[in-house]
Amino acid sequence: MVNRMRHNRSQRGSTRSHHALKGVRLSKCPDCGLPILNHRLCANCGKYNGKQVVSKEVKVSKKVTKGKKAEKVTKAK
Ligand SMILES: [Zn+2]
Repeated sequence: MVNRMRHNRSQRGSTRSHHALKGVRLSKCPDCGLPILNHRLCANCGKYNGKQVVSKEVKVSKKVTKGKKAEKVTKAK
């Protein structure tokens, strides 16, 4: 850094005043209205860009099968 590029404390501080991190920017899901991350699937209704990507029923059935497996394991022991 050349000496002529050097800023005084006030100039340095005014530059750094804009460097603070901002919070997560959320948008509303158009279907259920809950806050969602941009470019991400809605965790509540499983939709992205108005299309059903993940159905709730699949999630529930997976949980049920997991529960059954856990029961079997416990019975075998
Ligand atoms: Zn939603």
